[in-house]
Amino acid sequence: MLKQIDYTYKDRVWCGKINEKYINKVVKLYGWVHRFRDMGGITFIDLRDRTGVVQVVLPKELKIEKLSLEDVLEVIGIVKERPAENVNPNIATGNFEVIAKEFKILSKSEPLPFMINDDYKDIRDLKIDESLRLRYRYLDLRRLQMFRNMFFRHKLIKYIRDFMDNEDFLEIETPLLAKPTPEGARDFLVPSRLQLGKFYALPQSPQLFKQILMVSGIDRYFQIAKCLRDEDLRADRQPEFTQVDIEMSFISKNDIFLLVENLLEFALNNLGIDINTPFEVIDYKYAIEHFNSDKPDLRYNYPIKKWNNSIKINLNDENFNINQTYYIFFKNLGLTRKELDKLNEFLKQNNLKFLYFISSNGEFKGSLVKFVDVNEVDSYLRKENDFANGDYIVFIISSKNYLNELVLIKNYLIDNKLLRPVKDFYFLWVDNFPLFKVEEEKVGDKIIRKISPEHHPFTNVLEEDKPKVYMIYKELQKDPKIIYDDNFVKEVLSIRSLAYDLVLNGVEVASGSIRITDIEFQKIIFNIIGITEEEANKKFGFLLEAFKYGVPPHGGIALGIDRIIALLLGYSSIREVIAFPKTQSGTCLLTKAPSEVDEIQLKELGIKLMEVN
Ligand code: ASP
Repeated sequence: MLKQIDYTYKDRVWCGKINEKYINKVVKLYGWVHRFRDMGGITFIDLRDRTGVVQVVLPKELKIEKLSLEDVLEVIGIVKERPAENVNPNIATGNFEVIAKEFKILSKSEPLPFMINDDYKDIRDLKIDESLRLRYRYLDLRRLQMFRNMFFRHKLIKYIRDFMDNEDFLEIETPLLAKPTPEGARDFLVPSRLQLGKFYALPQSPQLFKQILMVSGIDRYFQIAKCLRDEDLRADRQPEFTQVDIEMSFISKNDIFLLVENLLEFALNNLGIDINTPFEVIDYKYAIEHFNSDKPDLRYNYPIKKWNNSIKINLNDENFNINQTYYIFFKNLGLTRKELDKLNEFLKQNNLKFLYFISSNGEFKGSLVKFVDVNEVDSYLRKENDFANGDYIVFIISSKNYLNELVLIKNYLIDNKLLRPVKDFYFLWVDNFPLFKVEEEKVGDKIIRKISPEHHPFTNVLEEDKPKVYMIYKELQKDPKIIYDDNFVKEVLSIRSLAYDLVLNGVEVASGSIRITDIEFQKIIFNIIGITEEEANKKFGFLLEAFKYGVPPHGGIALGIDRIIALLLGYSSIREVIAFPKTQSGTCLLTKAPSEVDEIQLKELGIKLMEVN
């Protein structure tokens, strides 16, 4: 039999949980002084714990020492209903107050570096410098909104674990002291003291171990995994972040889609967020062609459309290709005069060649107007689109940069809240990613071209594109210089993989693939991406060896949990949903990591520091 935990402080009641059931009852409260005021000898304290705030009344006869904000108190008192004129509708306990009978200051607080009793406002509007918040993160985390963020995170992860357990997945911890993983970023290295001169790499992902677990017959694995990547921190990246890492055997891509959809639906519904499944699936190529992005935000579903060739644009301008005219059709845009004028201004400032019109009054405008037959354009739009009465607006741009330009206009409309999102959370699968990318690097005065995996080297190819892989392999064997032939590069880039991304509101929140399990094919991929057999054996030999002993077909995915939580809670920064995040330069302002180490420690590791520039 389990014994009841009394948490030492028996009979404690959470501050934020005081309600009518406690009226006239004695309660014991612990918390921090959120606010206080003295009214002719009677002190009113807003006492706060992680659940909220309750008003404590200290009668005159209770002698108190000097009180400060954020002192830690113990209060024993009786719960009363507040007189009607004193009810505070802003807080959950606003109908009640606790008349103190006993009162103790358990710990004093020094004057605060910033106020934390301003939490009726949103932390998104805080005027405090973020570095100060991070420096005193323990104070910042006392904010109820920050607590709610941590609580949401905790619950989301709990529901994920519940769901995965129910689906027969095992959570297995993979090592932190590991060999480099294949995600393509820079590794954080850890020197080995017992084997001087050797290094572990902190995992960029559990990729290789999770594949080994499939060979081990675990069949269904997941892990709430910390991943570490030593990248130059672009906006809103963290050197360490958390993924829900998943791998499954004997499955197809669709099983992964279904699993993730069910997982998110289960976890989010439990958190009171409604999402619709299944998620839409769009092709990578379609996404690029119509949204100029591999992570389109379909809350604003305005694809780029190609203009019918037969429409004549009599434009004698080298920058324009008359055969390539593109447009976006914005239905129900309904701009006011003022909004329209501002938009015109924006178009002019950005030097965009454009044409728009509004059907309700048939108005044509834009720098291209005089070059087209407007009646022809009008009838074309009515024929090809759901173009009817009301406020409709169409942009037509014809230039080499049409994708960027059209997206620029769309983003202008989104940023200025002129387009309405169709829903709060738009999940979308982007499928059939290219297997390879071709990168150029300047070495001396030469440009070197290199083929690398778009996802990682263990990603399998779409079956029907497999012959192309053999073909480019052979061509490269014959003449490696063929990489400088643009047609060859086109062919390389056209090979589709079995990799997919999950996108939420235009942000990539998960990615994964079906893996290669054919060792010979894997060797060909290594060869194409310029990893020699020797290198492959050194780096990934253990995986290739394991594959010799019976490898099941398998695949997986990893979901970026920090980003998902931030998006669901409406933060533009993932730092708001991470307890102890680092700054852009990778510093923990609270602990001051990274820091110098003792000479002795370095000596033990055989490390001598030198200047680098
Ligand atoms: N390891 C991959 C990543 O972290 C995800 C996967 O392929 O499952 O992006």
